[in-house]
Amino acid sequence: MQVETTDRLDIVDITPEVRDAVPDEFETGLCTVFVQHTTAGVVVNEAEQGLLTDIETYLQELVPEWDDYQHDAIDDNADSHLRTLLLDESVSMPVVGGDLDLGTWQSVLLIECDGPRTRSVTVTCTPAQ
Ligand code: ZN
Repeated sequence: MQVETTDRLDIVDITPEVRDAVPDEFETGLCTVFVQHTTAGVVVNEAEQGLLTDIETYLQELVPEWDDYQHDAIDDNADSHLRTLLLDESVSMPVVGGDLDLGTWQSVLLIECDGPRTRSVTVTCTPAQ
């Protein structure tokens, strides 16, 4: 699936799109969400607006925009790659009874570190043995 992001650092709750991507006939197993990029990641966390702002601030403080990274000579986005190192490129979660078995406060969040862009995300469902 494709996800549109709107800022250089941006967090998009993709839980509804992941739910829609699970096939209707898939009942029980594991769902893996994978981001096909090196400057965006995916995590499971709470989609509360204040927390989303806190996550952005945290990433900016841990990896400041700085103009002397080696990779900036190539495409000027070393901070984006380094922020993505702190995230994951994939998350897996159980599917039970045909639905994602997430906790009450868990959402699937795509974290954009070099937007705005259109991001490709795959959802793979593996049946329980
Ligand atoms: Zn780069």
